[in-house]
Amino acid sequence: MGVFDHAEFDNHESLHFFQDDASGLRAIIAVHSTALGPAAGGCRRWIYASDADALTDALRLSRGMTYKNAVAGLKFGGGKAVILGNDQAPKSPQLFAAFGRAVDSLGGRYITAEDVGCTVEDMRYVREQTEFVSGLPQNGSSAGGDPSPWTAIGCFQGIQAAVESRLGTDSFKGLRVAVQGVGHVGLHLCRLLHEAGAELFVSDVNPENLALAKSELPVTEVAPSELIYADVDVLSPCALGNILTSSTIPRIQAKVIAGAANNQLSTVADGARLAARDILYAPDYVINAGGIISVAREYYGSSSEDEVRADVCRIRDRLQAIFDEAKTSGRPTNELADELARNLVAAAK
Ligand code: NAD
Repeated sequence: MGVFDHAEFDNHESLHFFQDDASGLRAIIAVHSTALGPAAGGCRRWIYASDADALTDALRLSRGMTYKNAVAGLKFGGGKAVILGNDQAPKSPQLFAAFGRAVDSLGGRYITAEDVGCTVEDMRYVREQTEFVSGLPQNGSSAGGDPSPWTAIGCFQGIQAAVESRLGTDSFKGLRVAVQGVGHVGLHLCRLLHEAGAELFVSDVNPENLALAKSELPVTEVAPSELIYADVDVLSPCALGNILTSSTIPRIQAKVIAGAANNQLSTVADGARLAARDILYAPDYVINAGGIISVAREYYGSSSEDEVRADVCRIRDRLQAIFDEAKTSGRPTNELADELARNLVAAAK
């Protein structure tokens, strides 16, 4: 497998592979940039079809964290960890302890937290081995805990900005929204959208998560293979990435795409494909920064929940500025966001 010539390598500062026979841990930690501070990004545990898929995911997610942290104004660079799940090595305290030792061995160049497939509880085992972890159980009203409700709040506000910009309304009453994935972020987001009066369409490949959403909220279930093509106003991807491609984009009916999933676009050119169809795309790493904002404030300490909320509410203004610039310049939103992020990192260097 080529690494330095990997299509997603993009000048990563370092790439680390870990194996621990006792716990069954196999993990990759990718450090894309430390220009703005230690590389911060969550840990994803996923069963990948191949090691090559895991590496690609780590590299793409890591670069995305550089951009996300820069645009969110955080003193963090970008990095990401993936744990290669398999049936022989189920989640266990030993697995996360071994992962914690792996993180610790990097001496603070990388700071971890939870992402898909990991929880606040898992991070407690990581914390026993290293101080370079955030997203731990919350203490009173200080910043901390599960980042996903903050991600959902940021997404909700980002959807508001996008709907106002593209559909010319600030009301969610009767707005049809399709949410792909009702896990940690997706379910919180559904609650906020429902409270605001939206009509919800959801899908999930995990029957338990789907059942929970259906038991709590009036949602219409759509088959996972059909959800992104639903006849809705807004598509909110809250599952995994790589869903907006040259073959899926022509069939999408939504006018706005705004959700939490990382790396929604398969390639940069897919942003232009969306713009050409007049579909307003909220750049994923701008709209989904709520969680890392909470993680960052927790990590640096002495922050309150109110300060996290104030920071998360700035996501709306950042997106509004990108949408306004896209309107005046005619350029795709993803390209404007990438340019902004790259300029911020270059200025720090
Ligand atoms: P999660 O694992 O709790 O939820 C993801 C859900 O998507 C699961 O219920 C899963 O079964 C479902 N899913 C997977 N593939 C699917 C498919 N093809 N169709 C429908 N459903 C599918 O993860 P999460 O923490 O809610 O994160 C969701 C996304 O948001 C991820 O891409 C993550 O990287 C991103 N994100 C999360 C946070 C956070 O704070 N948790 C922050 C930023 C970005």
